[in-house]
Amino acid sequence: MPELPEVEVSRLGITPHLLGESVMRVVVRNPSLRWPVPAEIQELAGLTIVGIRRRAKYLLLETDWGTAILHLGMSGNLKVLPQGTPAGKHDHVDIELANGKLLRLNDPRRFGCLLWTRAPAEQHPLLARLGPEPLTEAFDGDYLYQRSRGRKTAIKQFIMDNHIVVGVGNIYANESLFGAGISPKREAGNIGRERYLKLAGEIKAVLARAIGQGGTTLKDFTGSDGKPGYFVQELQVYGRAGQPCTRCGTLLREVRMNGRSTVFCPLCQR
Ligand SMILES: [Zn+2]
Repeated sequence: MPELPEVEVSRLGITPHLLGESVMRVVVRNPSLRWPVPAEIQELAGLTIVGIRRRAKYLLLETDWGTAILHLGMSGNLKVLPQGTPAGKHDHVDIELANGKLLRLNDPRRFGCLLWTRAPAEQHPLLARLGPEPLTEAFDGDYLYQRSRGRKTAIKQFIMDNHIVVGVGNIYANESLFGAGISPKREAGNIGRERYLKLAGEIKAVLARAIGQGGTTLKDFTGSDGKPGYFVQELQVYGRAGQPCTRCGTLLREVRMNGRSTVFCPLCQR
């Protein structure tokens, strides 16, 4: 599933091809995504893309008239291709540009979406109640500490809650909790301020590292084959259950939390 780093890398990858370009045509081959692609998406035609932003895992293609809101769902990816490139089975939408290129949304499982809003995108129901971006100053240890007071939920669920902070997917929650030495099962309200400072730093670092590594694959972004912009990073705990902890050598344990794989070191994480 594309996580925040992959979406950010997608944003970086498509921006040079789209920014300042006008849209010639929107071709919707299959509107049946998670929510139907609205007919109003055709309002994009004739408009100039003046900004490509990201909020959580939503990409926002901004014009002076409205904003297209795009989500890659479970299996979506974006490619920039020359117009006339034949469409494959799961190529649901093309946004054709005046520069002879097109932005193609491919999504085999169709959990993604493409919506259109005339209002400021931040006010859209999908975006309005989201927590802060993890890589901004609005998110730090003090913020986590304040929000967690009185909360009995496990810390792992707490940091994966989009209302608290966006973009901390399962892999990144596992990795940042290991980095901060915090047990994923500990109650959020039972963790002190100093430990939250450490945890916020780890969350920022693990996401920034993933974006940095994804950036090295950008050259493949306009390729017509293969997965663009997705990458594997070196992981300390996720996917390593039963293997020795990289710090102390203790065998890493795995439990299920909310149905998601949770791997931790029983010695280093308290
Ligand atoms: Zn350890």
